[in-house]
Amino acid sequence: MSHQANPQPTSSQNRSIPRRVLIVGGVAGGASCAARLRRLDESVEIAVFDRGPYVSFANCGLPYYVGNVIVDERALLVASPELFRARFNVEVQTETEVTGIDRRARTITVRDGRTGTSRTERYDVLVLAPGAAPIRPPLPGVDLPGVFAVRTIPDSRRIRTWMAERRATTAVVVGGGFIGLEMLENLIHRELSVALLEKLPQLMPPLDPEMAVPLMEHLAAKGVRLHVGDGLARIEAREGGSLVVVAESGARLPADLVILAIGVRPETTLAKDAGLHIGPRGGIVVDAQMRTSDPHVWAVGDVVEVHDVVTGQDTVLPLAGPANRQGRVAAESIAGRATHFRGVQATAVVGVLGLTVASTGASEKGLRRVGVTNFQKVYLHPGHHAGYYPGARRIHLKLLFSVPDGRILGAQAVGLEGVEKRIDVIATAIQFHGTVHDLAEAELCYAPQFGAAKDPVNLAGMLAANVLNGDMPVADWLELARTDALLVDVREPEEFAGGHVPHAINLPLSQLRRRYGELPKDRDLWICCRVGQRAYYATRFLAQHGYRARNLSGGYTTYEAFRAAGLVP
Ligand code: FAD
Repeated sequence: MSHQANPQPTSSQNRSIPRRVLIVGGVAGGASCAARLRRLDESVEIAVFDRGPYVSFANCGLPYYVGNVIVDERALLVASPELFRARFNVEVQTETEVTGIDRRARTITVRDGRTGTSRTERYDVLVLAPGAAPIRPPLPGVDLPGVFAVRTIPDSRRIRTWMAERRATTAVVVGGGFIGLEMLENLIHRELSVALLEKLPQLMPPLDPEMAVPLMEHLAAKGVRLHVGDGLARIEAREGGSLVVVAESGARLPADLVILAIGVRPETTLAKDAGLHIGPRGGIVVDAQMRTSDPHVWAVGDVVEVHDVVTGQDTVLPLAGPANRQGRVAAESIAGRATHFRGVQATAVVGVLGLTVASTGASEKGLRRVGVTNFQKVYLHPGHHAGYYPGARRIHLKLLFSVPDGRILGAQAVGLEGVEKRIDVIATAIQFHGTVHDLAEAELCYAPQFGAAKDPVNLAGMLAANVLNGDMPVADWLELARTDALLVDVREPEEFAGGHVPHAINLPLSQLRRRYGELPKDRDLWICCRVGQRAYYATRFLAQHGYRARNLSGGYTTYEAFRAAGLVP
């Protein structure tokens, strides 16, 4: 996102002819913009055009409608055209597609989907909020009946009808991101047997591979047939109307229906045809007020490129929160307020078959992709509340922070309970440019059933602060294959016997004080335990006795995730 100078105030107050604000797309970004603008300016004329039959519907609820968790389709309708008219004096035209923009004449061409007729509409201000379209790869069979993408209410209705008519029992979901996982959960909820095909070697691309391992294990344990590291080659029709998904490996996955969820692409055709500036990530370029390269045209939502406040890069981020906030910012800008969109940090969550996966900020691979190397990371596996209170569930948490200033760069968490709460706290800290010291000091809710006196967020901050101040030097699991350090596992012998890092020796923490003289002082020692806590105690003890000790953060639990992800021997 380029940050141009503040636009001139464009309030229509004191003008005799009302300004006409036309909005293309009436869902998250467009509807937010329309409603906010009306609250700020009673004098403008506002019209919203959407080619679909609804505006302001809950796209995020669609998978749950397919799953019959949301039973009544009407629950998806957040606001109707009638409500927009009555409450906000906003004219909403559904089934009306905007097919062209004449920027010089300041008109758009709209086609009425019911009559097929076209007309032009004049604007003073145009807001583009057309969203992003599901990617349909140009592969044989992707247009066969029974192959669906999920974007609209009619899409989900069609899937429901198909499932009912075909008495569907099997499905293949192609794509292991948010939407794919949500669809998978809901198809399983409808008692279908589901296979998941994902081209990358991991699910949930925003996560680092080792953090996606608990997710993959959870799905496999729930009976999902996982095919990761294997792309879609084609889809074949079988007699009787069922399908076979053929993977690049040659694997053949039979299915009564196929869901394509391999990502979305900004809907930029209108903007491109109108000569608006499109960025390298394929979205419309906007300034901090959401104004495009044309001062009379704003753009918001999935269609725009946004500034990532952590990496400093421009990116596309198709999420509802940013779309809503951008709609609001555009409205304020159109009304002449000097507000601006702060940028994004990619905070997101998905729930799948009881497991929650959430992340905020940059991943490790994302940092490396943009050339950031001055960072460190810690792994921890605390309970979601005090261990002595029944029912504590483990959260797998990874925190990335910059060195030496401790600024928080990102966090990822996976677990059955309390995951999104921790990520939301860390996300808020990132927004306020917080450091790991802020996390260590954060005063958070605590009672036994909710958290711990040292909440997982506090613990993550404390571990990271220990790394920064030298109290707990950490070793990087990714260096395991290359290191000549002596690996010392400080768990008890029976734990060690149950599995350990290759080449590690066992010297339990309980014996360390009398046996530490057996360890070499002239060699790096990488200390491991189950989750990192005993290794920390050992590291502190050894460091104070003149040893070069480092903690293998997250312990054997993290090692197992790295090994399952194929990152360590
Ligand atoms: P959209 O909401 O897609 O709205 C764009 C509208 O513009 C559409 O109705 C389209 O028909 C219309 N349109 C396009 N072109 C034209 C044209 N030329 N003329 C007229 N109308 C046009 N995000 C989250 O943060 N959390 C979630 O849990 C989540 N779950 C999701 C689940 C699903 C199944 C889907 C599809 C998306 C989900 N999202 C989620 C993403 C979120 O819905 C989007 O980021 C958000 O809706 C984007 O808002 P938008 O206004 O940019 O576009």
